[in-house]
Amino acid sequence: MTDHFPHLLEPLDLGFLRLRNRVLMGSMHTGLEDRRRDFEKLAVYLAERARGEVGLIVTGGIAPNRSGWLAPFSSKLTGSGEVPRHRLLTSAVHDEGSRICMQILHAGRYAYHPFGVAPSAVKAPINPFRPRKLSRRGVERQIQAFVRCAGLAREAGYDGVEIMGSEGYLINQFLAPRTNLRLDEWGGDIQGRMRFAVEIVRRVREAVGHDFIIIFRLSMLDLVEDGNTWPEVVALGRALEAAGVTMINTGIGWHEARIPTIQTSVPRAAFTWVTARMKRELRVPLVATNRINMPDVAERILAEGQADMVSMARPLLADPDWVRKTREGRWKDINTCIACNQACLDHVFQRRRATCLVNPRACHETELNYLPARDPKRIAVVGAGPAGLACATVLAERGHEVSLFEASNEIGGQFNMAKRIPGKEEFAETLRYYEQRLRNTGVDVQLSQRVTADRLLREDFDAFVLATGVVPRRPDFPGLLHPKVLSYVDVLYGGMRPGARVAVIGAGGIGFDMCEYLIHGEGESPSRDLRRWQQEWGVDPAYDHRGALAPARPEPSPRKVYLLQRSTGKPGAGLGKTTGWIHRATLRNKGVETISGVAYDGVDDAGLHIRVGDERRLLEVDHVVICAGQEPLRELMEPLQNDARPVYVIGGADRAVELDAKRAIDQGTRLAARL
Ligand code: FAD
Ligand code: NAP
Ligand code: SF4
Repeated sequence: MTDHFPHLLEPLDLGFLRLRNRVLMGSMHTGLEDRRRDFEKLAVYLAERARGEVGLIVTGGIAPNRSGWLAPFSSKLTGSGEVPRHRLLTSAVHDEGSRICMQILHAGRYAYHPFGVAPSAVKAPINPFRPRKLSRRGVERQIQAFVRCAGLAREAGYDGVEIMGSEGYLINQFLAPRTNLRLDEWGGDIQGRMRFAVEIVRRVREAVGHDFIIIFRLSMLDLVEDGNTWPEVVALGRALEAAGVTMINTGIGWHEARIPTIQTSVPRAAFTWVTARMKRELRVPLVATNRINMPDVAERILAEGQADMVSMARPLLADPDWVRKTREGRWKDINTCIACNQACLDHVFQRRRATCLVNPRACHETELNYLPARDPKRIAVVGAGPAGLACATVLAERGHEVSLFEASNEIGGQFNMAKRIPGKEEFAETLRYYEQRLRNTGVDVQLSQRVTADRLLREDFDAFVLATGVVPRRPDFPGLLHPKVLSYVDVLYGGMRPGARVAVIGAGGIGFDMCEYLIHGEGESPSRDLRRWQQEWGVDPAYDHRGALAPARPEPSPRKVYLLQRSTGKPGAGLGKTTGWIHRATLRNKGVETISGVAYDGVDDAGLHIRVGDERRLLEVDHVVICAGQEPLRELMEPLQNDARPVYVIGGADRAVELDAKRAIDQGTRLAARL
C-alpha cells in the first residue's frame, strides 16, 4: 500500500541518522510540559504518536531561561536537575522506533510576564507587558542559554533540537526591522539583525557535535508590516546552512499577524509555495507546514519537490495513527483535524490542557481508555449527531451491541449544516471518518428512523442513550409567521435561498456562520481557491513587499447583511480566541452591518422593524434569518424514564446552552468509555 504515498513513506537519510518517513510532528504546546508531574502523561501521549509511526517528533516549546518563559512557570530546561524528566519522553519515543527533537523557544516580547526581554523595548500588540531591551551582555547571555539548553537536551537523549526562529518569538524579533531598532552589531541591516540567529546555530553546533539534529524554524513569511523581504529571508537561510543546521522548518506568520495561517478557512497547503521557493536556494532538507492534514496533500507536496518533509501538529493530536493508517492504505480511517482550534490552541491560550475536538483522548491517554466491556449489553443510541456518533462507536469498539437510530437519511446532525458554511468544508471529513468507523465497529445504523419511545421500549435493549440534539429557539415578536422569516435550518438544510438583503437575528456562533454563508456566494468559498483567498486577506505570493503583505482586496458581498443582537456587548464575544477575530474581520471586510442593543418590534411586508435605544429603524430586507440559539430536544425522555432500564442523555439533548461539538463528542465518548 506504500505505493499510494511513496514520497511520504520514504525514509530520510540525514547522514548520521535515518528517519523512517517524511512526517514530522510539529511542535505543539499541550500544557503537559509545564509541570513535572505531567511528564509521565506527556511521555504516554508522545509514545502513542511514535507507535503510530511518525518519523520525527518535535516537542512543545521549552524555554532556555526564565526570561524566555511564555508565562510564569511554564516549561524550561536550564539545569541538569530537569534532565531526568525529559529522559522519560525520549526513551518512550525511542522505544517505539521514532526520533524526537526538543524545541527551544524563547518568547522574547511575547513573554506573558514582566521579565521579558527583546532586541528593543517595543511592546507587542497582543501582550500587555513591555519587554526590556537587551544590553550587549544580555544578548550574549541569551545565546549562552540556547547553547546550554541544547547541551542539556542532548544529555536527556533527544536526537536534536529545533531552534524556534519564527512566529514572532525572540529570534524572529531580532531578525525583523519591525522589532529590532538596534544600531549596534545586533541590529541595523540584515547582516546585523541575523547575527543573533546565526550565532546561536553556530555555537549550538559547536557544542553538540555533528551527529545531532539542529532544525531551525525560519520565518519564511512574516505577514506583518516591517517584516523581512524575500532576499533577506534567503540570506538568512544560506547563513544558517553555513552555520550548520541539519534542516530548516517553515514558519508562517507572527502571532500578531492579522492574516489567518492555520484556521479551518485557510486553504489546505496554502503556504507550501514559499517552502518550494526556498528549495531553489538551499541544499539542506526543508520542511513544509500549515494546513497539511491528509496524506494526498502531503504526498503531492513531496512529489512536486516543494519540500523534503511535511510537518503536522494538530493532525496528530486528532489521530495518533495517521502515518500507520496511511502506510496500510487505510487513509479513509484517519480522524482528520478540521483545524477548528477549539480544543487545542484555544485551550492553550486559556492555560488549559490541550486536547482535540474530534479526539478527546488526545493528551488524556492515561485517563480515557476504551477497554473491552466487562458485561457487554444491547444499547440503543438515538441521534447520529456528533454526540451519538462518538458514543455509539466507542460503545461498539468496547464490545457492546449498538443500534444507532437517526431520523434523517444521513448521519451527522448539525455537522451537515456546519460543513456547508464557506470555510468549514473540513467538517465533512469528520462525517467521512464516522461513516467509516461505524462500519469498522459494526454499529447497526438505522437511518430515516425517527424512533418513538414505544418502539424503543418494545425492543430488548438494556440501556438507552438519548443524543437527539436540539431544536432552534423561536424568539417571540410579531410577524414570526411571515414568509420573510426563515430559520438557519431552512437555509442550511432546507434549501431556502435568502434574497439580496438579509437580517440575521442572533450573533452567536451560528449567526456568524450564517453571515459567512450569506456574504460568500453559494458554493463560492474562497477556502477552495488559493489565489482568491490570498487576495481576500492580502498575502503577496510575488513577495514584492516586506513580510509578503499586499493590500487586501475582498470581493464584494453578493448581499447586504445585517447581524443583530439584543445585548450591548461585542458581537461574537463567545467565539474562539484564535478564530473569533477572523470571523469579525471577514464580516467587516464584506460590509456586514452589526447592530447591538436591538429590540425586535416585528416583521411585515416592509421588512424588520427594530429599536436601538430610542431610535426606531426599518431594515428593508427580503428575509430575516433566525439564529437565536437552541433548546434541547428531549421528547423521548419522560416516557423512557418510566421504564426500569437506564437512560442517559448526552450532547445538545442534555444541555443546549453553550453547546458545541467539542462538548458533544467529549460527553458521548466519556459515557461510552464507562458503560
Ligand atoms: P445534533 O447534531 O443536533 O444531532 C442530533 C441528531 O438526533 C440529529 O441528527 C437528529 O436528526 C437526531 N434525532 C433527533 N430526534 C430523533 C429521534 N427521535 N429519532 C432519531 N433521531 C433523532 N460546533 C462546534 O463545536 N464548532 C463549530 O464550528 C460549529 N459550527 C456549527 C455551524 C453550524 C451552522 C451549526 C448549525 C452548528 C455548528 N456547531 C459547531 C454546533 C455543533 O454542530 C453541535 O453542537 C453538535 O452538532 C451537537 O451535537 P448533538 O449530537 O448533541 O446534536
Ligand atoms: P448562541 O451562541 O447561544 O447564540 C444565540 C444568539 O441568539 C445570541 O447572540 C443571543 O443574543 C440571541 N438570542 C438568544 N435568545 C434570543 C431571543 N429570544 N430572541 C432573539 N435573540 C435571541 O447559540 P448559537 O449561535 O445557536 O450557537 C449554538 C452553539 O453552536 C454555540 O454555543 C456555539 O458554541 C456552537 N457553534 C460554534 C461555532 C464556532 O465557530 N466555534 C460556530 C457555530 C456554532 P442576544 O440574547 O444578545 O440577542
Ligand atoms: Fe484539529 Fe480542532 Fe482537534 Fe485542534 S481541536 S487538533 S484544530 S480538530
